[in-house]
Amino acid sequence: MEVTLLEATEDPEELICKGARNDYSDEFVGGQSFEATMETVEGDTLEAKKETLIGHLLDHGHFGPFEHPQITFAVEGVSRSCMAQITRHRHVSFDVQSMRYVAFDDVDPADVREGEMVVIPPSATDPDWVGRNQQSVQVDEETVEERAEIFRDTIEDAVESYQQLLDLGMPPEDARFVLPIGTKVNMVMSMNARMLMHVADMRAAADAQWEIRGLTEDLLDIAADWCPITFDHYEREMKNRKNRLAP
Ligand SMILES: Cc1cc2nc3c(=O)[nH]c(=O)nc-3n(C[C@H](O)[C@H](O)[C@H](O)COP(=O)(O)OP(=O)(O)OC[C@H]3O[C@@H](n4cnc5c(N)ncnc54)[C@H](O)[C@@H]3O)c2cc1C
Repeated sequence: MEVTLLEATEDPEELICKGARNDYSDEFVGGQSFEATMETVEGDTLEAKKETLIGHLLDHGHFGPFEHPQITFAVEGVSRSCMAQITRHRHVSFDVQSMRYVAFDDVDPADVREGEMVVIPPSATDPDWVGRNQQSVQVDEETVEERAEIFRDTIEDAVESYQQLLDLGMPPEDARFVLPIGTKVNMVMSMNARMLMHVADMRAAADAQWEIRGLTEDLLDIAADWCPITFDHYEREMKNRKNRLAP
């Protein structure tokens, strides 16, 4: 999986502060400098004032201003399973690579065994991997080798069958039905900073699956550079909150 930043609102935290200050200001925030907008906020520098205001908003559950800044990510090579999970979030906008129009007919089935085209979960090869709903089967080296072999044989067979069906003239939109749920897909997705915190609440949590958790941690790493005061506060004070329906 690879996650990269495509686009993001410039100065997201200035925007958050302007939105929030608008609520309690006699003056029109559109007609004044940022320094003037922040004049009465506690802090010796503009940066300190931003920290004060953003920390206050997050601590008091005033989340509306965090809906103004938008960020767009490009995500390469997640499973269709992970894609199904992340696309449940209704305030995120998606473009998902089409398997109707993109035929994977040039992939070498031998490479599929090594993780090309289909995501191989760590539990297929790692004897020490502990997942949720773990089966009570004694796992030794031999068991894991057998597990890895079955997994790799199955995905290789599926991709070979898919390619044969294409060769026999079946349209990609129908031939894809034989592909595994682990088949890789690329996505572009956009959301606002509030939604990113909500996605992280649900998907960086210990009960989320390893793949979407990894994806969310990558999103948070990018967000930490983009919107540093907000996501630093989120990491320190808010992450792993229990039972937050929405930030
Ligand atoms: C560990 C885990 C396991 C899961 N297992 C399953 C499963 O087995 N089966 C399954 O179907 N789903 C499952 N889900 C998905 C989950 O139920 C949600 O559908 C998904 O996480 C989207 O989050 P959300 O409900 O917060 O909505 P989002 O779309 O992210 O919306 C954000 C917030 O907006 C508000 N909102 C949005 N739309 C509405 C609405 N129509 N009405 C009222 N409020 C709204 C809510 O406050 C919501 O929390 C699982 C999620 C997790 C994290």
